[in-house]
Amino acid sequence: MSSKILQGNIRKINFCQFCGGPNKHEIPDGEEKVRAICTRCGKITYENPKMVVGCLIEHDKKILMCRRKIHPSYGLWTLPAGYMEIGESAAEGAIRETWEEANAEVEVQSLFAQLDIPLVGQTYMIFLAKLKNPHFSPGPESSECQLFELDDIPYDSLAFSSMLVTLNLYIEDIKVGRPKFHYGVINKRPGTSPSEIHAYTLDFHMQS
Ligand SMILES: [Zn+2]
Repeated sequence: MSSKILQGNIRKINFCQFCGGPNKHEIPDGEEKVRAICTRCGKITYENPKMVVGCLIEHDKKILMCRRKIHPSYGLWTLPAGYMEIGESAAEGAIRETWEEANAEVEVQSLFAQLDIPLVGQTYMIFLAKLKNPHFSPGPESSECQLFELDDIPYDSLAFSSMLVTLNLYIEDIKVGRPKFHYGVINKRPGTSPSEIHAYTLDFHMQS
């Protein structure tokens, strides 16, 4: 990826995270990218990709999905997933997010997919999981939670490209046998909105 794209994607961080002073946005000596540099204390506020962790929950040949009651993608369907917190592992985060969004207790089985989305600085880690008991209900961020047969997945109203890719890979695996592990890069077409979930290519796809 060219540095031009990366620079164009820099979000303005207006204030220093160390002293609260105003930042300027420049390329520091010896670096190649525009950074937020404090005009008062001189420290740089770096911004790095965020990890999104979640679960693909299999139950009776169905999968558990949640309908979002929050923005973005309000009213659209997703697998339970959210930002990993400091102090937890990816698997713990995926279990926690599932509890928060679907009131479901799950046991993580294996890592199913790691999907990088460079344009927005996110990496998704989606784990295969099983329900510890058959109980689930919408948490505060969901309006509905439902088990879907693979043929009934609400493809017309999915929340994110990452979920579309995850579900496509899963269904392809199930058709020929068992789920594998997938790594891939979701390159969103520049200039398309996050709601255009089909505007991507899946690159560097590796599976094992
Ligand atoms: Zn500062």
